[in-house]
Amino acid sequence: MKNRNSWLLVCIFQVFLFPLLGQGPKESADTIVTGMVVTMDGSRSIYDDGAVVVAGDSILAVGPRAEIAARYKTRQTIDARGKLVLPGFINGHTHVPMTLFRGLHDDVTLNDWLHKYIFPAEAKNVNEEFVRWGTRLAAAEQIRSGITTFADMYYFEDAVAEETKKAGMRGVLGETFIDFPAPDNKSNAAMLAYTEKFLQKWHGDPLIHAAPAPHSIYTCSQKTLQDTAALARKYHAPILIHVAEMKKELDDSLKNNGTTPVQYLDQIGVLGPDVVAAHCIYIDETDRKILAQRQVGCVHNPSSNMMLASGVAPVTETRAAGVAVGLGTDGPAGSNNDLDLMEEIDLAAKLAKISKMSPLALNANAVVGMATIEGARALHMEKEIGSLEKGKKADLIVISLDEPNAVPMYDVYAQIAYALKASDVETVMIGGRLVMKDHKLLTVDEEAAIAKAREYEKSVAASLGMK
Ligand SMILES: [Zn+2]
Repeated sequence: MKNRNSWLLVCIFQVFLFPLLGQGPKESADTIVTGMVVTMDGSRSIYDDGAVVVAGDSILAVGPRAEIAARYKTRQTIDARGKLVLPGFINGHTHVPMTLFRGLHDDVTLNDWLHKYIFPAEAKNVNEEFVRWGTRLAAAEQIRSGITTFADMYYFEDAVAEETKKAGMRGVLGETFIDFPAPDNKSNAAMLAYTEKFLQKWHGDPLIHAAPAPHSIYTCSQKTLQDTAALARKYHAPILIHVAEMKKELDDSLKNNGTTPVQYLDQIGVLGPDVVAAHCIYIDETDRKILAQRQVGCVHNPSSNMMLASGVAPVTETRAAGVAVGLGTDGPAGSNNDLDLMEEIDLAAKLAKISKMSPLALNANAVVGMATIEGARALHMEKEIGSLEKGKKADLIVISLDEPNAVPMYDVYAQIAYALKASDVETVMIGGRLVMKDHKLLTVDEEAAIAKAREYEKSVAASLGMK
């Protein structure tokens, strides 16, 4: 009896008093976020009543709320109990300034869209100011759908970087190389000089990762492709490129290079663990082995591939070969037309299922992974972002579960993939800084961006003789 009492006393001390007394004063940190924490870590840990502690721009601890509350004191609490807390979504491929061309001319072939509408529209309208307003509008739209990091390819990318930084978003931002005069740089030498300065300017920035972005093998010569790769490697920057995105690209490569787009890029020394390849639709088994060996990241864009009838990327096979496959919106003009990554999560699963005629082809857990940790791997940023784990950047989102489409919830991954909407995202933090709180944007003047988009609608239409 005596023994039992002392054992009880030890238990009481350990459970109730030790956390309060034994560990001394609480550690201080900046913010604690409480809620159902879906970490997306290696074992897919979920804390039903969990918490994330943030200090500076990083995550200090993740775990059960009671444990965390006993250890840390913070100046700010975000009480998201009854809601989901997730790592921010990663949009692995887009062209954000093109928001201002949204819906300009749809339901035409890619070739017609590019040559009859977009290239003339870009030549007449794209300047630094256009790019800034397009990026602001896109930042508002992306934050609202829970995107915290995006990879972009466009012109005047330094202006995209400045606006992205102001919006507090994380970006892998690629200045586009193309073998004809672009809206910003009229020659390859000018593109190289601009991009070298761009890489130097943003080197070491916590939010902005500057990159060269050779557009594709069908718009860039071998020399352009190799020059951009060399420039990227000089500055340890990533390389963003469209790869095997249409049947014509494969056919032309077989004819002109005697091999597939992936094998051609490998032969000329472009592929490596710093390459982010958008699309990867027309790839065979050998291509997949090469992509895996070279540790190239791929980005799947289901809306774009369907809207342009480009084809169906063999996502199941590519992932099975050991290649990291993230998700992207592409577009937003002509090939989507929005920046809603939650839609891509849903469509990635459904497109794989219908193309394989099997509901087992790609499941909810996998596609939520592609939008988070696997997307981070595809951008070669998995040490920094993609999951809620100690030491990673504090990029997290809170999703409400209070709307009719959110209840009941039997499986959290299925809910995220198939039932929840971008409009359910209510709070977004990037690098420890709140950029949206309870649906209110804090870093972008959304009203001004919307008003400006309406002005551009008139001037762009007029420039093409449409109105
Ligand atoms: Zn694209």
